[in-house]
Amino acid sequence: MPDAPVAVTAPGETAVAGAHACRSCGNDALEVFLSLGDMPLPDALLRGEDLERPEPRYPLDVAFCPSCSLVQILEEVAPEQLFVDNYLYFSSFSEGLMQHSREHAQRLIAQHGLGPHSLVVEVASNDGYLLRNFAEAGIPVLGIDPAPDQAAAAEAVGVPTLTEFFDADLARRLRAEGKRADVIVANNVMAHTPTLNSFVEGLSILLADNGVVTIENTYVKDLIDHCEFDTIYHEHFCYFSCTAVDALMRRHGLFLNAVEHFPSLQGGTLRWHVGARPALEDSARDYLEAERAQGLTEFGYYRDFGVRVERIRADLLALLTSLRGDGKTIAAYGAAAKGSTLVNFAGIGPELVDFVVDRNVHKHGLFMPGTHLPIGDPSLLLQRMPDYVLLLAWNYHGEVATQQAEYLRRGGHFIVPVPTPRIA
Ligand SMILES: [Zn+2]
Repeated sequence: MPDAPVAVTAPGETAVAGAHACRSCGNDALEVFLSLGDMPLPDALLRGEDLERPEPRYPLDVAFCPSCSLVQILEEVAPEQLFVDNYLYFSSFSEGLMQHSREHAQRLIAQHGLGPHSLVVEVASNDGYLLRNFAEAGIPVLGIDPAPDQAAAAEAVGVPTLTEFFDADLARRLRAEGKRADVIVANNVMAHTPTLNSFVEGLSILLADNGVVTIENTYVKDLIDHCEFDTIYHEHFCYFSCTAVDALMRRHGLFLNAVEHFPSLQGGTLRWHVGARPALEDSARDYLEAERAQGLTEFGYYRDFGVRVERIRADLLALLTSLRGDGKTIAAYGAAAKGSTLVNFAGIGPELVDFVVDRNVHKHGLFMPGTHLPIGDPSLLLQRMPDYVLLLAWNYHGEVATQQAEYLRRGGHFIVPVPTPRIA
């Protein structure tokens, strides 16, 4: 069981960060504001026969760059280890995400007049959850995703997919083949790339002159304000503000022109509209001004985050321990990276939680990394009727509540862990 104290650095302290340079601007005076301790890789689920083997653990320290405002982790695990081997995330398992993606595709088609002569490229196209909407409308698409199982699933729904990581070299190759994208979509991937500048350079190379890139990622302001520390793990190298995105894009001749906010998507997601030409809309201007006014461009905004995270851990452990003490049974919902981060950081093992359920059938019969909670099908909730279900996938609270209406009707309860642990 990990017992990793939260080390909160003194204001301005850069002790851990000395050897690290900012992933965006290269500044080497990063300011650390949270250390989550040594954590297992969050998606490294285990088979029963592997439970006795030692699991690799890696430190997890989060820092702010005072030069370009980018929040980032200092450590780096090879992307091949994170996203290819045993990577079990299939986008199409979330109905909410499917709906969000359909609407996005329909708007892009209408706004940009996309048709048979257009090209829509998606970076990290996963199982084709988004591009299939364009393909079904007769618009040429190209998916790019290094995970072979997801790429195969995409091909099966009519989405041609390159099984590679996206970077400037791949963009150059595609452009040499005569490909220019009218639309590039990059959802929940920019945070996953350790070579941020090569990634954005690739976008600028592949984008047609009048094209648009839409990028979605969780918003660092939501992460900090709502204490969503469990979205910090080794797969997420960076946590973006509009200020940080603007600086990053400009370095590669691209411009942040518009911003949309989806407060309930993944705990708070922004969609940045980027073009090869400046066409600043009010939304982008407002966000950039608000971030300066609210202080997101200063270390002070992030300074007490570690203290707040520690409070959540203490409160959650107290709640679970007290329920167990009263003889209550507890299960958990959501065996994704977020859940792994939370149970490992908080030290929630089989003595507190009996099992975890997840809709992803590829995870059934496996065990969570670190704490080794067994993973099963959500139907177990009705079969075994635990008194409480710790909602590790709290970002899907509404969706899970609908799906588990019968469990709740029979008297079950959810425990929502952040921003303050509570019984819902
Ligand atoms: Zn920087």
